[in-house]
Amino acid sequence: MDITHGLASSYSYHKCRCKECRKANAKNSYIHRRLRAKKLAADPTLAPHGRASTYRNWGCRCKECRKAHSRWVASMIRHLTKRMAADPTLAPHGRASTYRNWGCRCEPCSTAHSDKCAAYYAASKLRSSTFVGSRP
Ligand SMILES: [Zn+2]
Ligand SMILES: [Zn+2]
Ligand SMILES: [Zn+2]
Repeated sequence: MDITHGLASSYSYHKCRCKECRKANAKNSYIHRRLRAKKLAADPTLAPHGRASTYRNWGCRCKECRKAHSRWVASMIRHLTKRMAADPTLAPHGRASTYRNWGCRCEPCSTAHSDKCAAYYAASKLRSSTFVGSRP
């Protein structure tokens, strides 16, 4: 069967996971979330608030949903940290992403994380100073 790639429908109906279709699907769901967020802003009763799923699926950023979302993230990290403690081979070490996503605090991960932070701060400092400098 011939399918057209680069379409969100190819992703959802034909289960194609090629790069083009994945990209189209991501863009599509982003647009949908934006639309839903707009609808929800107009009528906040459309979704229950104080839920991580409302934050994720509706793009709601109200105080309650933000709180629920960060609670969810924290519990995810706790869960992953536990799994990681039981089996340290689950993720590659010496990476800032492992530090962040898995809550790993081993030495290589901590070092990678602080290196990345330092680079990030240096870059943002540079950006803000250019910004300030370009203003009269
Ligand atoms: Zn495809
Ligand atoms: Zn909300
Ligand atoms: Zn680690």
